[in-house]
Amino acid sequence: MPSLPLLLLLLWGMGSHGFPAASKTQEQDVEMVQKYLENYYNLKNDGDQIERQKKSSPVVEKLKQMQEFFGLKITGKPDAETLNVMKQPRCGVPDMAQFVLTDGNPRWEKTHLTYRIENYTPDLPQADVDSAIEKAFQLWSDVTPLKFTKVFEDQADIMISFVWGDHRDNSPFDGPGGNLAHAFQPGPGIGGDVHFDEDEGWTNNLRNYNLYRVAAHELGHSLGLSHSTDIGALMYPNYFFTGDVQLSQDDVNGIQAIYGPSSNPNKPIAPQTPQACDSKLTFDAITTIRGEVMFFKDKFYMRINPFYPEVELNFISVFWPHLPNTLEAAYEVANRDEIRFFKGSKYWAARGQNVLRGYPKDIYTSFGFPKTVKNIDAAVSEEDTGKTYFFVANKYWRYDEYKRSMDAGYPKIIAHDFPGIGHKVDAVFKKDGFFYFFQGTRQYKYDPKNRRILTLLKANSWFNC
Ligand SMILES: [Zn+2]
Ligand SMILES: [Zn+2]
Repeated sequence: MPSLPLLLLLLWGMGSHGFPAASKTQEQDVEMVQKYLENYYNLKNDGDQIERQKKSSPVVEKLKQMQEFFGLKITGKPDAETLNVMKQPRCGVPDMAQFVLTDGNPRWEKTHLTYRIENYTPDLPQADVDSAIEKAFQLWSDVTPLKFTKVFEDQADIMISFVWGDHRDNSPFDGPGGNLAHAFQPGPGIGGDVHFDEDEGWTNNLRNYNLYRVAAHELGHSLGLSHSTDIGALMYPNYFFTGDVQLSQDDVNGIQAIYGPSSNPNKPIAPQTPQACDSKLTFDAITTIRGEVMFFKDKFYMRINPFYPEVELNFISVFWPHLPNTLEAAYEVANRDEIRFFKGSKYWAARGQNVLRGYPKDIYTSFGFPKTVKNIDAAVSEEDTGKTYFFVANKYWRYDEYKRSMDAGYPKIIAHDFPGIGHKVDAVFKKDGFFYFFQGTRQYKYDPKNRRILTLLKANSWFNC
């Protein structure tokens, strides 16, 4: 999990070139890298340890494949962010398959499939396990012609079990964390079967590891999907749980490419993961944080990170598990080292990764907004004056962070005082004395001293597109 401030970590990571290095932690890392590439990228274990300092060894090649898969900068070196991604808990199915997936697209040739839960984890009541598995199947049956029937004896198409360590399928589990579960592609016998590592603590909530979330992923394999590079997809190999489990558009495209769409007219909403370089990209909120700029969209944040070629994209919940998705405004009060996040009439305050106690609070008592204000579109604070500007439809309010009260005479009309910035603002932040206003796919660099727009930019101009 990345941590704020990132910069220190980055500098540390950039400084340690070459590998392997001498320190003890780094020796462990080298072993971890080797194992990871053997398990998930089909690196041959020929008994040799990683060859030292060679420019093109199999390890370097496999590292590059891994970095490409995860959208990391392709360095062929186990830099800090690469190690960070490798340490995340994940599915045991390889990303680069050789023996696991045969050529062609494995699929079930029938649409009515049976499943059987062979045994239960002691971590959860049986009813919870039943319900998690049933819901996971339903995600996939909702968008395809597939139907799943639970059976209680004999061989089913998809056999589900909780096992640990070496369980005689050539894919041993590894104790707590790391490899959480795996599943086999469609086929007879072990084909389609799902194994959960019983050494994990299985839950029905936000604690590790949510069974419904992992089952939804593994069943994707049982039906013939391989791993996706889309971090918002259920078929992304690493475990993230943001509270809801739903198929992303990427998952839907994948499964429908195999089985076709469902005839059910009620189509579930499948969110699309934002693409940094999509010219149609818009933002919910943007703020500076300790010198960085963070962009918010749906359940994701984006920021410039030298370890990612375009932009780092990840879940908001990775930093702030208690924040809601689809924020509406955010701003930084730099001298208090505080970020405030807005959604509806509520707001949250955070210092670094910690959401402060006592939040959310409401915007009426804290800032003095009238009840007619239902939500904030955008907000930005000026460090030098202590004034915060809140944009609501075509009006704006000014709040004094020192007096902790709204300045008299507001709201005012945005277009009067920010010429060119007419109607509703999506997001705004201040950097190096300039305001950057976002409206749809447009961005305006604005000079507050001379009250004029300097440049019109694409909204995603900050990314390396
Ligand atoms: Zn998987
Ligand atoms: Zn297994």
